[in-house]
Amino acid sequence: MRYDVAVIGGGPSGAVAAAILAKAGLSTVLIERNLANVKPCGGAIPLGLIEEFNIPDPLVEKKLSKMSVRSPRGRKISMEMPNGYVGMVRRERFDSYLRDRAVRLGADIVEALVREIKPASNGHSIHLSKGHAPIEADFIIGADGANSKTAEELDFPANELQVIAMQQRFHYSDTLKPYEDLVEIWFDGEVSPDFYGWIFPKTDHIAIGTGTEFRKHDLKSLQKRFIEKIGITDKPYLDEAAKIPMKPRKSFTQDRAILVGDAAGLVTPANGEGIFFAMRSGKLGAEAMIERIRNNKPLRSYEKKFRKLYSQIFFGLQVLQSVYYKNDRLRESFVAICQDDDVQQITFDSYLYKKMVPAPWSVQMKIFGKNIYHLTKGS
Ligand SMILES: Cc1cc2nc3c(=O)[nH]c(=O)nc-3n(C[C@H](O)[C@H](O)[C@H](O)COP(=O)(O)OP(=O)(O)OC[C@H]3O[C@@H](n4cnc5c(N)ncnc54)[C@H](O)[C@@H]3O)c2cc1C
Repeated sequence: MRYDVAVIGGGPSGAVAAAILAKAGLSTVLIERNLANVKPCGGAIPLGLIEEFNIPDPLVEKKLSKMSVRSPRGRKISMEMPNGYVGMVRRERFDSYLRDRAVRLGADIVEALVREIKPASNGHSIHLSKGHAPIEADFIIGADGANSKTAEELDFPANELQVIAMQQRFHYSDTLKPYEDLVEIWFDGEVSPDFYGWIFPKTDHIAIGTGTEFRKHDLKSLQKRFIEKIGITDKPYLDEAAKIPMKPRKSFTQDRAILVGDAAGLVTPANGEGIFFAMRSGKLGAEAMIERIRNNKPLRSYEKKFRKLYSQIFFGLQVLQSVYYKNDRLRESFVAICQDDDVQQITFDSYLYKKMVPAPWSVQMKIFGKNIYHLTKGS
């Protein structure tokens, strides 16, 4: 079978890309190795994503406007978003909804593992797991996550900074009841020496997890300590873990192929947020692909556009992580800064819609002064 575009990987980035391509009338195949896959993920998404991608209400299990951050010494800062919320989704339902939408719009779907990609005349020949004939495609979108086979086969530059994250799901108990309606983040070296721990409530369970730079620390021990510190004595009913690629690859575009989402390394440092960037890159990548096929416009416009829109956010969060996640004294300072109303406002505004919202000069100077004060105190 021959297609205009083969999208490899049926997570949010691939499903969004396939839907847009199919809607535009291009022959599109979405190849996913396991349609019952449950991607390890906290499932926290911003309001801006829900609106842009028309995510139906029943998929958003919780809309949480309350949040608290906790420091190494146990100081807790509570915050409330005045005009927005963090949506909580369950990936097994979310991903399958997005894939179904792509199919409804005309994409074919094949459940198979991509094993090899070979060059073919005017495109690629994609070799699949046993029992499946190869698929020919003029163009490829690699949406196959942090360990992207597409990137490996097509010689893209390496995914550099990888965090490994683990999450456990617990049924509600008396200890966990207080967390039912808020997002809680722990900045605590005992929970994560270089990332953070999270408590994300869903309707019938709570997801609790932590992360650390790949191969640097023992993730299982960190998670165990986190659970002990919260005071949970029940056993989890599900353990899950996966890598988070927190740095864009040096390049994620070629003449006849692009990478999107985690495959391209598009997860922001400091907060490990990837679903929004997966779906945005899937959309931008698919739009560039349509232009390439119809008007012979180069695919690199996709990468240029993505970097123009989001480089500042990636850079800002990288600086924040390298300054404040170094040790517990600095983490203590970071949590202290979160108490400031202006800091909260800027953080929420930029989280919800992924736009750097410029604050008035007076506010910027005030925040700058507070940063210096807390940094000198912290170090
Ligand atoms: C523990 C954890 C918690 C997280 N929490 C959050 C959060 O709360 N909010 C947030 O925004 N982000 C979170 N992230 C990040 C987020 O999960 C990812 O950024 C997001 O899933 C990326 O989407 P994607 O479509 O690019 O890749 P993925 O969701 O990884 O999808 C890739 C798909 O490709 C398929 N695939 C892989 N290889 C092949 C192959 N060879 N052939 C065929 N198919 C293949 C896989 O089965 C998978 O379905 C978290 C990550 C982890 C690990």
